[in-house]
Amino acid sequence: MTPDNTSAGAHAVHENLFSGPQPDVAGAAGYPDAPPRVGFFTDTSVCIGCKACEVACKEWNAVPEDGLELTGMSYDNTQGLGADTWRHVAFIEQRKPLGGQEPGLGHESVDVFAAAARLGTDTAAPAPAPAPENEVISPVSPDGRTELRWLMASDVCKHCTHAACLDVCPTGALFRTEFGTVVVQEDICNGCGYCVPACPYGVIDQREDDGRVWKCTLCYDRLGAGMEPACAKACPTESIQFGPLDELRERAAARVAQLHAAGVTDARLYGEDPEDGVGGDGAFFLLLDEPEVYGLPPDPVVTTRDLPDMWRHAALAAVSLAALAVAGFAKRPGRGR
Ligand code: SF4
Ligand code: SF4
Repeated sequence: MTPDNTSAGAHAVHENLFSGPQPDVAGAAGYPDAPPRVGFFTDTSVCIGCKACEVACKEWNAVPEDGLELTGMSYDNTQGLGADTWRHVAFIEQRKPLGGQEPGLGHESVDVFAAAARLGTDTAAPAPAPAPENEVISPVSPDGRTELRWLMASDVCKHCTHAACLDVCPTGALFRTEFGTVVVQEDICNGCGYCVPACPYGVIDQREDDGRVWKCTLCYDRLGAGMEPACAKACPTESIQFGPLDELRERAAARVAQLHAAGVTDARLYGEDPEDGVGGDGAFFLLLDEPEVYGLPPDPVVTTRDLPDMWRHAALAAVSLAALAVAGFAKRPGRGR
């Protein structure tokens, strides 16, 4: 599908480019008969941190290896999104009780202590080493809850409604697809790096060897072939869900209501609101704590939002200066004699 470059299409391109709700991003980008906008809903409450999504993303997109370094603060060995990490599974360790608290995470039907007692008696597996004498090891606190929990969350490019990376790209390497997603074309990127500080989420990143920028494409090549993105396909718990954005928003609202009804009152959505500072995200999340806990900005704003006003003020200032200069020239002594 090619963008509509007629005058009507060109007019639409400039509507709501920098701020405000934009219900039809693909239409505004010049695709008059675009399919429904698609995206990701990442439900972190069911993520088990297996990293299948990271691996699937790397494999499908041939993203190079970028080192395996533990942060020293957690079991996170990829540390964050970058040019060579387009999906990143964060591991956040919290001193907060868990134990039947998160629906879907509890395993009430399994008696782990009975299973542990049977260890070494009903299989050929070697028996575990006995616990040191007089040492009491208890995995649970007296009320039956563990004393810490892990929050796991698979982060990705947000495919913003108002994408500052796209606004500032001087070469057209970044573009809006007919699916409403934001894609960078590596053969057009000249490595100027303008998009890197423009992204309010710190997602897009330059590769060290050639300086070009890279990020999640929401598997544009797979979408074109009618397939879902590799990460969503690989996720065993359906923590990453792919589909039409409107449908995902409904599904997410129902999941939050379900969690609240089950007593998980901290559950909240992040990035799904079309009225927020980026016009809503094409990739949004269900979180179990404040966004900052996951390293996400609490109130992101498209960094190009104020550009039209700034240019308007600059133009006014330039006109005023020119008028003053002309007036000064006209009043110069000796003129008009
Ligand atoms: S999250 Fe950053 S890189 Fe992704 S679309 Fe938004 S501005 Fe661009
Ligand atoms: S999002 Fe899915 S695939 Fe990725 S780590 Fe979590 S459970 Fe595994």
